[in-house]
Amino acid sequence: MHLTIRARLTLLYFVVLAASFVAFFWICDFGFRRSIEITVNDASRSNLETVHRVIDGSLPKGIPKVQKELSELAGLWANGAIFEVAGPDGQWIFRPQRFQALQAPLPEAPAQGIAFLTTNLEALQYRIARERVVIGGDVFLIEAAVPTEPFDQALDRFRLTEKRFLPLLVVLASLLGYWLSGRALAPVNRIVESAKSIGVQNLSQRLEVPLEKDELRRLTETLNAMLGRIESSVAHITQFTADASHDLRTPLALIRTNAELALRRHRREEEYRETLGRILAAAEESTQLIEHLLTLARADAGAAQLRFETADLSQVLHKASQHARILAQAKGLEFSEEIDCEPLPVSMDSSAMERLLLALLDNAVKYTPEGSISLRSFSRGGQAIVEVHDTGVGISEPDLPHIFDRFYRADQTRSREVRGSGLGLAIARWIAEMHRGAIEVESELGRGSRFCVHLPLLNRENFVAVTPERQKATADSVV
Ligand code: ADP
Repeated sequence: MHLTIRARLTLLYFVVLAASFVAFFWICDFGFRRSIEITVNDASRSNLETVHRVIDGSLPKGIPKVQKELSELAGLWANGAIFEVAGPDGQWIFRPQRFQALQAPLPEAPAQGIAFLTTNLEALQYRIARERVVIGGDVFLIEAAVPTEPFDQALDRFRLTEKRFLPLLVVLASLLGYWLSGRALAPVNRIVESAKSIGVQNLSQRLEVPLEKDELRRLTETLNAMLGRIESSVAHITQFTADASHDLRTPLALIRTNAELALRRHRREEEYRETLGRILAAAEESTQLIEHLLTLARADAGAAQLRFETADLSQVLHKASQHARILAQAKGLEFSEEIDCEPLPVSMDSSAMERLLLALLDNAVKYTPEGSISLRSFSRGGQAIVEVHDTGVGISEPDLPHIFDRFYRADQTRSREVRGSGLGLAIARWIAEMHRGAIEVESELGRGSRFCVHLPLLNRENFVAVTPERQKATADSVV
């Protein structure tokens, strides 16, 4: 059963109030009965003492005198109070007229003190105080009774009132609870209404924050903070899409222009070759951009699958270094490497790691018009560290915090017409983070840059590096 919070609160009010009222009335009822009991006990005790005093006063003049005095006393008592007295011989010396015919044995009385009991006499309920008293050396049994009916009637009236008002009170209190919970939840409805009106088109809108510093204010502030994060993510995605389309348009426009120009008139074979070469380069550039975009999209969706295994980072470094050396030499740059001769066991996806290293080495070559590039690896404090250093254009201080952002390209590199998408470092950082590592950069404009990759190093002792030679040896032994 699905109940609204308001309905649940009202139900809770109902149950709690009904239970409290029942408990309250039960306590009142108990208190009432207790106070009736005390009152009737007191009344019958006081009557008993009066009888005692009368016997005490008239006994010296003989039993008949006692009987006479007691009869007079009985005539004076109002409200139906009665008493009876048995003499030392065990015979009743005084009984109300209407009980005189009853042949009942003398009741038992406690040896000491007063006994109280409730009994019915001729359809009327009485509270009786009974006591054995010694007067002038003789033992008398005195019983004094007061009718409880007037008290019972009061109790009945109270119970009747209880029965009438209890349900009414509970219903009224529940209605009050319904109204109160409605009032308390009204701001929630307002939040719901304003939240409904916020969409992608008006993401900058915020929910109205209540003035009272309560839970609803906290809820609204949290929702507003969430809206802020969504807004900036959406702005990011919009920017990303705009940048991606812009960057894709450039090589496509190049392909198109080149093809159109080539087709405008008949050309020589070299000219066609040149044009096709340019088209191919532009096509490669767009393919690479699409690949980068796909990688980032998969990374964002959490769908990018890296296959981690324990491998030697030095081997991946050797591979990347060969590639970088060719690129550097083609550009007339000096290239040096200093790779740790000890294996550097790291849990990694080797091809992703190679991609990361190539992104850094490619950049070093790209952004170094002349000078040198060096690649270094070593271990320190349980970490494998790879450094790519160049003496290239460097990165200005304001650009430095942004170079790992998607599509970010520092100004001086744009002006130098170095082609690139601004995605390489974003992917490199993602790969490093997936390996529980990090990339740091130090750079000075006009002097060069140093990129430093830190990766958690595994225990070297149990690691046996699978070098190409060892791989071959294993294959030979199998044959
Ligand atoms: P790009 O495709 O533009 O190279 P990256 O994400 O690889 O994209 O790099 C982002 C920006 O960082 C580059 O445009 C460049 O301005 C700057 N950058 C990266 N590496 C270097 C470097 N070694 N020297 C100077 N600037 C660099």
